[in-house]
Amino acid sequence: MFNLTHEIYNDADKAREHLEAIHWPNGPVCPTCGNCDPERITKLMGKSTRPGVYKCKECRSPFTVTVGTVFERSKIALNKWVLAAHLMAASKKGMSAHQLHRMLGVTYKTAWFMAHRIREAMKENHATPMGGDGKTVEADETYIGKRETPPVLSRGRIAKPTKSGKAGGAHKRVVVGLVERGGQVRTFHINHATKETVKEVLDANVSKETNLYTDESRLYKATGKEYADHQTTKHSGGEYVRYDGDKVIHTNTIENVFSVFKRGMIGVYQHCGEAHLHRYLVEFDFRYNRRAALKVSDAERAEDILRMARDKRLTYRRFSPAVNA
Ligand SMILES: [Zn+2]
Repeated sequence: MFNLTHEIYNDADKAREHLEAIHWPNGPVCPTCGNCDPERITKLMGKSTRPGVYKCKECRSPFTVTVGTVFERSKIALNKWVLAAHLMAASKKGMSAHQLHRMLGVTYKTAWFMAHRIREAMKENHATPMGGDGKTVEADETYIGKRETPPVLSRGRIAKPTKSGKAGGAHKRVVVGLVERGGQVRTFHINHATKETVKEVLDANVSKETNLYTDESRLYKATGKEYADHQTTKHSGGEYVRYDGDKVIHTNTIENVFSVFKRGMIGVYQHCGEAHLHRYLVEFDFRYNRRAALKVSDAERAEDILRMARDKRLTYRRFSPAVNA
């Protein structure tokens, strides 16, 4: 159970010990040279030393557990980071910077920076392809919010709506989503939905041995042939599920993912700038991939954020919090 009064949310030293337990289950590791010999690492205990500083006897670098993480060099107390990670891990539709600002007692601007750093930590490694032999991946695209930049098309073509009955899609932001049934989701903000851009996303993320299920959109027709089995449902004809032997053909799983995302974006993140859309997609993918149905608890999800915070450090100076929630 989530207990707001727990010491890791209220005491910076306890929060640091919590991070140390997650990152260094077998004792401290020097981030510079990788030394993890306890005999060759000293904990600095001097009166003038801030707590949590170690010194590597191999390369002589001092370090703390936050070196190489998105929390590095932050002036915000670590217990606030740990609390923010928990709140974002546990809120199904996300948490606005305004709400974080009120709950953490930091300025709105700070809360906004924290939320984006936590999203950076949530970013998953897409090195392994989805699907595979006997697996099913649903692919679909959705159109969300008004786009700020005109769609860029090759050879000067004019953007046309891609789905029947969905006129005006060309002036919206496009998100392509892939979900493996019973498994993981990956969503991508792309400039424009074309056969080429959709193929690019599929090529990079889905193994060719996969059964691919989509709607009847022309976007997937050619590239679909490259997969073990490509099945479609005819949404324009009112067909949402089709049975073929033991195959249950639909794209309801990915459509449900889009619907959670859209509810979150409307309810919580109303003013998401186009340049940040991919960060919110990362956030929703992260939670879906650790959903309660997979028996992942809020605490485990929060621990994953803290664990994945390593090697993700970015500079956020170029972003303006003024125009983005
Ligand atoms: Zn070292």
